[in-house]
Amino acid sequence: MRKSTLDELRNQMDDLDLQLIDLINQREVLLQKHEELRTERAEKVLERIACHSNGPIRKETLISLFKLLDQAVPASSRKLLVSRKSKLENTVVTVAGEEIGGAYPILVAGPCAVESEEQVDAAARAVKAQGLHFLRGGAFKPRTSPYDFQGLGEEGLCLLKQAGTRYGLSVISEIVDPRDLEMASGYLDVIQIGARNMQNFELLKEAGRIRKPILLKRGLSASIDEFIHAAEYIMVHGNDQIILCERGIRTYEKATRNTLDITAVPLLKQETHLPVLVDVTHSTGRKDLLVPAAKAALAIGADGVMAEVHPNPKQALSDASQQMNFTEFESFVSELEKSGLYKNNKVMV
Ligand code: PEP
Ligand code: MN
Repeated sequence: MRKSTLDELRNQMDDLDLQLIDLINQREVLLQKHEELRTERAEKVLERIACHSNGPIRKETLISLFKLLDQAVPASSRKLLVSRKSKLENTVVTVAGEEIGGAYPILVAGPCAVESEEQVDAAARAVKAQGLHFLRGGAFKPRTSPYDFQGLGEEGLCLLKQAGTRYGLSVISEIVDPRDLEMASGYLDVIQIGARNMQNFELLKEAGRIRKPILLKRGLSASIDEFIHAAEYIMVHGNDQIILCERGIRTYEKATRNTLDITAVPLLKQETHLPVLVDVTHSTGRKDLLVPAAKAALAIGADGVMAEVHPNPKQALSDASQQMNFTEFESFVSELEKSGLYKNNKVMV
């Protein structure tokens, strides 16, 4: 081949290489502006290659190239969707007109598990009587032992919803299986992902695809960074209605069930734009510490507190020793009110 023809080819190749480099970078800049499009685009590009690429480069090679491109920017240097850097204003999750993460802190209360129609009805009545708007109750209980009460399943969700409707309360319950999310959306106002499932990534992805607020609890031994990334899994899959919940972490300390990591609250509020709750029941596991822990949580900036209450704690099928009875619950709410950190909204029922 003549030298001049070779030079021409070289120039053409240089030109193409430069264009390719520029295009690849442009594509990444666009994706970084809208991280939520990343997974969707990845799926589309694979489809497109399969249908439209006619070679000579093998389709498998092109697919690998695009997969590599998606990992080209290290995760650590990505701006997360849940980060304050992506959104300066607080996210407020509004459920039936009640704001979580708004101007006033909220309380969420209810039994550890839904056990029967009478039990959940009595709990709902007590929760309403103290002026709360949110009723919790587990129907799918992740228990340490397979021989312990596992929850009533869908029937439990149904009983919880009925009690919520009867007393005008929004209902929250944990879902452990991605296949149950759609069914559960028919019963629940907020879907809880529990500590043991904080890194169940398939559950997080599915939670991102539904249109219900998600209450995400911190894992038993999850770092703040892992917790934030778990929330990112939900948001990047399309659901930005996320509430974080600090529920204590496992340490060497045995005096409490878990160790309440109180500074997680301001840290999460600084690092993310999401509302943050504190579960005082599972973090302390001690009824004598519920009031001080709840006051500390509200004083340090939590958007609300979660606690367990049961009509007859001694007979409870789970967490019997840590659930408040109604008298204790009433004094819990009134202590918080007296502290000036929480505004009660009592009604007669
Ligand atoms: C619960 O809230 O019912 C629960 C099981 O809590 P955690 O996932 O924080 O242990
Ligand atoms: Mn419990």
